[in-house]
Amino acid sequence: HHPERSTVWVGRPGREVPIGPDTFTFIAGPCAVETADQTLEAARMAASAGATLLRGGAYKPRTSPYAFQGLGVTGLKILADVGELTGLPVVTEVVDARDVDVVVEHADMLQVGTRNMANFGLLQAVGRAGKPVLLKRGMTATVEEWLMAAEYIAQRGNLDVVLCERGIRTFEPATRNTLDLSAVPVVQSTSHLPIIVDPSHAAGRMDLVVPLSRASIGAGADGVIVDVHPDPETALCDGPQALHGTALRELAQAVRRMPPLL
Ligand code: PEP
Repeated sequence: HHPERSTVWVGRPGREVPIGPDTFTFIAGPCAVETADQTLEAARMAASAGATLLRGGAYKPRTSPYAFQGLGVTGLKILADVGELTGLPVVTEVVDARDVDVVVEHADMLQVGTRNMANFGLLQAVGRAGKPVLLKRGMTATVEEWLMAAEYIAQRGNLDVVLCERGIRTFEPATRNTLDLSAVPVVQSTSHLPIIVDPSHAAGRMDLVVPLSRASIGAGADGVIVDVHPDPETALCDGPQALHGTALRELAQAVRRMPPLL
């Protein structure tokens, strides 16, 4: 019962950034917040490439419990300070319903990651949080299951949901996940919600991020979200997929050269 495609606005009044059919939103930042300097440098790289929203993980849901798990509240504070300094609204992941309040205090948009797409208690908690939500597709979820997860958020009164295709598990090991770009027009044909693409977490490889971003633009996505890092080799999380230098400049050009939206 929603004939028009929706635009979701992120950020406080006067600094709001749209995600929706009339624009292409470029979101970038470090996979994980590691230090204040690293986050500020990554945010400056993101802004100079044309990003209008800053991403960064303070709570990191890692496959291994021995891997860096994020700085938690300290990371949230760094992210909020860097957002303030650079003027970029921030999006960050929440992995536990008990952390929703503290994440809401520091972030402009709450991310639900692939591993929590079907964590219904968390979905209901972000649905009550009063901030826009970036809902990533579960890595083994069908489009319908993903849209139903969005309904859990909407049912609690929050219609400001942006979907994010980030690759699914298939038999193909060449990339970490298989980016399912068909999900973009499929979602747009059945849902009014904006949909963006995360080529960084889909591919897990920096050299594929620019071509997959171009493909996302071609498929009609409402934006992309990518990892950037000032020194990917020392990154505590997902360094091999982080853009910097020439690749980031190429992406900036691809986004700027986008044909006018219909
Ligand atoms: C992330 O964006 O930091 C992340 C962990 O993504 P995903 O949930 O898609 O793996």
